[in-house]
Amino acid sequence: MPVLIPTTLDATLDALAEHPHAQLLAGGTDFMVEVNFGHRRPDVVVAIDRLAELRAWTLDPGATTVTIGAGVTYREILQSPLGDLVPALAEAARTVGSPQIRSAGTIGGNLGTCSPAGDALPVLSALDATVELASRSGRRSLSVHDYMVGVKRTARRPGELVTAVTMRLLDGWQGYAKVGVRNAMVISTASACLAVDRPASDLRIALGAVGPTVLRARGAEAWVSAAIDWSRPAVTADLAAEFGRRVAAEARPIDDHRSTAAYRRHAVAVLAGRLLSRGLAP
Ligand SMILES: Cc1cc2nc3c(=O)[nH]c(=O)nc-3n(C[C@H](O)[C@H](O)[C@H](O)COP(=O)(O)OP(=O)(O)OC[C@H]3O[C@@H](n4cnc5c(N)ncnc54)[C@H](O)[C@@H]3O)c2cc1C
Repeated sequence: MPVLIPTTLDATLDALAEHPHAQLLAGGTDFMVEVNFGHRRPDVVVAIDRLAELRAWTLDPGATTVTIGAGVTYREILQSPLGDLVPALAEAARTVGSPQIRSAGTIGGNLGTCSPAGDALPVLSALDATVELASRSGRRSLSVHDYMVGVKRTARRPGELVTAVTMRLLDGWQGYAKVGVRNAMVISTASACLAVDRPASDLRIALGAVGPTVLRARGAEAWVSAAIDWSRPAVTADLAAEFGRRVAAEARPIDDHRSTAAYRRHAVAVLAGRLLSRGLAP
């Protein structure tokens, strides 16, 4: 396979304009597995791991949003100060693979693969993140909800790459939890991210591995946001259980080689109830 190794974003966009269906290679932790199993043999590979433009993260001048470059690794995300700004993303990053995978794997690669079990994605969904894309035809921003269109399918166009992802910094608790067949080095059987926006008296919950894409349980969000007394938030066991039931009712899990739909539905109910209790603990 010819491998092009541009060192600037500009040169990358030129390479992608010439080879719009080229395979992008960031950390290679998803892509190289497919190559090794003979599942993928692209005509051209464009390596993007040398692009300084993708490896940075920035705060906007008012410190209300953070933009994380597509080439930022999980290792960088879970470190301070970035990890303190988006604690749920740091928590999710901590659960990805092993130290080696976290040092090589990138947030752009998680978005590129767009597996419903990708650990960064429920966090990006709960935080209503915006995916930044670039090609020789220009730049565009897409809500992460519009970017994820199906199982490992995205709205990315030929010749385009993800340059960054932007999210608002919320004033409120946020956390991520996942269930797998063991405690480490495991792909999620079910996962959830809960984020609280205290000034807006609003709570969001996004679910992973229980649908064709990561999905939000918007009915349960609206119900619990109205049920909570925001002047003195507290979570009873009954409230947590009912929230879990409502979240599970909105999941769309399937039976596959990793688990059953019934277990996944049960797991997201438990995760949602626990995250709610943790998030609104007095
Ligand atoms: C042992 C092991 C354990 C793992 N554990 C986990 C886990 O616990 N949780 C989890 O979520 N994942 C896990 N993964 C999967 C993988 O590490 C992640 O999905 C990671 O985020 C992929 O990033 P990468 O930079 O390595 O992507 P790559 O493998 O380089 O690319 C992945 C895909 O995204 C595309 N791509 C890469 N960058 C961009 C971009 N900027 N714009 C558009 N498309 C792009 C590529 O073309 C490719 O199709 C694991 C993988 C391995 C091998």
